[in-house]
This record gives sequence, structure tokens and C-alpha cells, in this order.
Amino acid sequence: MNKRQYLTPTEKLAILVKQDWRCSCGCGRPIWPVHRIEWEHTLPIGLGGPSKPDAAMLYLCHKIKTKGDKRRIAKAKRMRNKFLGIVTRKKKPIPSRPFSTCLRKKMNGEVVAR
Ligand SMILES: [Zn+2]
Repeated sequence: MNKRQYLTPTEKLAILVKQDWRCSCGCGRPIWPVHRIEWEHTLPIGLGGPSKPDAAMLYLCHKIKTKGDKRRIAKAKRMRNKFLGIVTRKKKPIPSRPFSTCLRKKMNGEVVAR
């Protein structure tokens, strides 16, 4: 996995000019400097993408895209671990109702000492 790196102001401006100051998700909404701009990895780092962001998106569009990316990254990790035979920690079993081990319950419901 690549190490995350950040864009310089010049690179940010170059990306915005390249996108014609529009959101890269395809919604076509303009990006103004007053908007909350998110710098986006078109191919996520977790799936082998570049270390630096390569697109600009509006906050809400990026939130939706990232939600889908997280799922795909988690699935890729699960598939990789299964392929490599790495067993992840299993969940603890659900504990049963507390019942003293020195007592025994008969079929008719009567509780007797062992
Ligand atoms: Zn958008």
C-alpha cells in the first residue's frame, strides 16, 4: 500500500483547472473556493491507487463515494486474508444464562443438588 501524501497548493489549482472548476463525480456542480473541497483518490489507496489525490470533489459527493470505497477495501482485505489463509480473531460465543454448576434441573423442573 502506498504512503499517503498531500497536494501542494499549485497541484490543487492544477487539478481544479483541469476539471474546469467542476465536481469530478459527474454531478457537474461547480466548485467555488467557498465550498468545502475534498481531495479525492479516484482509485483508493487501499486498492492500490496513487499516494496523492488526483481529483477534487464537493463534500457531499465525496462522502457518498468514500462510503462505497470503504466497503470495497474491506472486501478486498477479506478476500486477501482468505487467499493467504490468515484467520482473523473469532468472536466470543454468546454466554448462556448464569446457572450454578453445582445444581441440576430434572426433566420435571425440579432443581436438585448434584
Ligand atoms: Zn459531485
